[in-house]
Amino acid sequence: MTVSREISTQMRRVQRGRRHAERVLEDGRLVHPAGPHGSGSTYRNKGCRCVPCTEAHRQEVKVLRHARWASRTRNEHGALVAPDTVRHGNANTYFNWGCQCRPCLDAAATRKRDQTARRVAS
Ligand SMILES: [Zn+2]
Ligand SMILES: [Zn+2]
Repeated sequence: MTVSREISTQMRRVQRGRRHAERVLEDGRLVHPAGPHGSGSTYRNKGCRCVPCTEAHRQEVKVLRHARWASRTRNEHGALVAPDTVRHGNANTYFNWGCQCRPCLDAAATRKRDQTARRVAS
């Protein structure tokens, strides 16, 4: 079971790499000739970066984020927090859900600090 799942994951990765290799450069953008264009899945699966695909992907991410933000509730401190089904104390929860619970705020602050430190160091 596990082995076959691993193989299919690997095959998907190979297929994706192959699809990415099919892309052509158009006006400085990597575009997949097969399309369909204006689709978020073409952007994600085929790596198409044409204007309609990029825009569709952006819209989808935005809609998803709005839906997540709308599902937040206020906790006992009046802070907007993500539902309990997500992992708290995680910077991604802060960025993707706008979760303002203490553990998520702390995790986001730590990540920002790390990124700043890395930038200074390099
Ligand atoms: Zn496209
Ligand atoms: Zn949280």
